[in-house]
Amino acid sequence: MTKLKYKNARLLSIVIPCYNEETVIEETIKQLKTLKAELKNFDFELIFVDDGSHDRTREILKNHAAKDRCMKIIGFARNFGHQVAVTAGIDAAQGDAVVLIDADLQDPPSVVKEMVVKWLEGYDVVYGTRLERQGESKFKLATARSFYRLLNYLSDVPIPLDTGDFRLMSRPVVETLKAMPERDRFLRGMVSWVGFRQVAVPYVRAERFAGITKYPLRKMLRLAIDGIVSFSAKPLKISVGFGLFSASFAMLGIIYALTLRIFTNVWIEGWTALMIAVLFLGGVQLICVGILGEYIGRIYREVKQRPLYVVQEYLGFDQIKPQMSRSPVTQIKQL
Ligand code: UDP
Ligand code: MG
Repeated sequence: MTKLKYKNARLLSIVIPCYNEETVIEETIKQLKTLKAELKNFDFELIFVDDGSHDRTREILKNHAAKDRCMKIIGFARNFGHQVAVTAGIDAAQGDAVVLIDADLQDPPSVVKEMVVKWLEGYDVVYGTRLERQGESKFKLATARSFYRLLNYLSDVPIPLDTGDFRLMSRPVVETLKAMPERDRFLRGMVSWVGFRQVAVPYVRAERFAGITKYPLRKMLRLAIDGIVSFSAKPLKISVGFGLFSASFAMLGIIYALTLRIFTNVWIEGWTALMIAVLFLGGVQLICVGILGEYIGRIYREVKQRPLYVVQEYLGFDQIKPQMSRSPVTQIKQL
């Protein structure tokens, strides 16, 4: 039998980022409570991070939290994005293991039971790998598929394919993540970077329970760029490749034009060739400057040293110690 490394573990923290989820949140709370009832040997803390919702999400959460002491709420002062919301939850979590799960029930809470089993066997990170994704558009499926593969090709740390943020992490991994201060966060990559013993649990990604995706194309692209740029300097090297390629192309053109002019009576006329060359080179240069800009923008954001998020209110917590928050405001409000 496998040695149970976390035999004495008691508290499980579940972190649920929510942004305008009024249509699903009641059902999510219900299903998480069912999970809690099924895992009787553990204490639970359900940390809902309200990422500046404009709808009734926070109000619904507050109503439920007033009745149930295991529910805690972190209310952001505005929308900071999914990755940052999850980070705030991880920071405040006190559990021996922390589980990240989406609010829209696309990650089935029942899979958490399998994750816990693996954790008890001694794994430090148990991540959900998507076997199948139901109810997603062809476009999202195709882009997600190519993104994970491109990312893996570019990244310096191997990042598991078709894996989102649905995962369980042990306390040592959580503490390591908390020590990582970067502002552009691509959590699944950061967790891979941490190391320890990691294992996958395959699952079928369900359709969104209700409501619409909060990840429009713009945010998806942002996340993809974050993933690539935060985990690799290869784009910079590729831009050198672009430069070399276009320069050698131009070289060939020059040799060709000179040969014609010197050894024959014909020569290349007109501005078409010229324009093409200018546009091509201009394009390549702009792309390379853009790539460079991505990295410089990141350095700029880092040196500003702004807090990663601002919490308007903590609800349901007993206390917020300094190591539990990166927000300048950490007041606990009563429910
Ligand atoms: N989310 C968030 N802040 C955002 C966008 C999304 O906290 O700015 C949450 C959202 O409420 C959900 C999770 O992140 O719990 C995943 O978002 P969504 O389901 O919209 O993304 P998709 O599954 O379509 O990629
Ligand atoms: Mg979703």
